[in-house]
Amino acid sequence: MNKVLVIAAHADDEALGCAGTIAKHIDNGDIVELIVMTDGVSARPEHITNEITVRNEMLKASSKTLGISKIHQFNFPDNQMDSIPLLSVVQAIESVIGYYQPNVIYTHCAQDLNIDHQLTHRAVMTACRPQPNCPVKQILCFEVKSGTDWQPSSQAQFTPNWFIDISEYWQIKSQTLVDYNKEMMPWPHARSIDAVKALAQSRGSQVGVELAEAFYLERCICL
Ligand SMILES: [Zn+2]
Repeated sequence: MNKVLVIAAHADDEALGCAGTIAKHIDNGDIVELIVMTDGVSARPEHITNEITVRNEMLKASSKTLGISKIHQFNFPDNQMDSIPLLSVVQAIESVIGYYQPNVIYTHCAQDLNIDHQLTHRAVMTACRPQPNCPVKQILCFEVKSGTDWQPSSQAQFTPNWFIDISEYWQIKSQTLVDYNKEMMPWPHARSIDAVKALAQSRGSQVGVELAEAFYLERCICL
């Protein structure tokens, strides 16, 4: 049995990036916990607090659809994680890894336009530095529509080397996107359900399956 930890900057990144893979892990008897880095609690103007409440309700609904065992929600500010010392972000992630002892981690790829996605990747890699007794044996990085695909062409691009067939799990993934309906946009926006499905079809066709999620294998330690 794997103990999987998904580390997402925002509520919805886990659904966009790897909902099919999460569903597959749970179907295989693995345990999956989720960290959402931003906007757990907030001392902000009321209209923003209301938006956060709605988003957190969508997070709960989506996690229930997938069967995620536990959500750890941190309070880093949305789209302002660069205003926080990286050490604080690393320590927050380390606290969950220390208690949960995951062996598999999914998080953002480094090649992403969104600053919170970039910093989450960086903090995860720091928190998971391979010291003796580090429980994490595999780190896989996902792509997020409207973040990874908006990476400027002049910058390094996401080049997946790990594909997971989610053909049997598309229905669950699409339900999680419906759960996040207020975060989704109409086609042809990059963050539309049709665009997410088109990406899954494209990734699938790269490896000869109907639908796939694609990852970059950042590290694997085989024992
Ligand atoms: Zn995000």
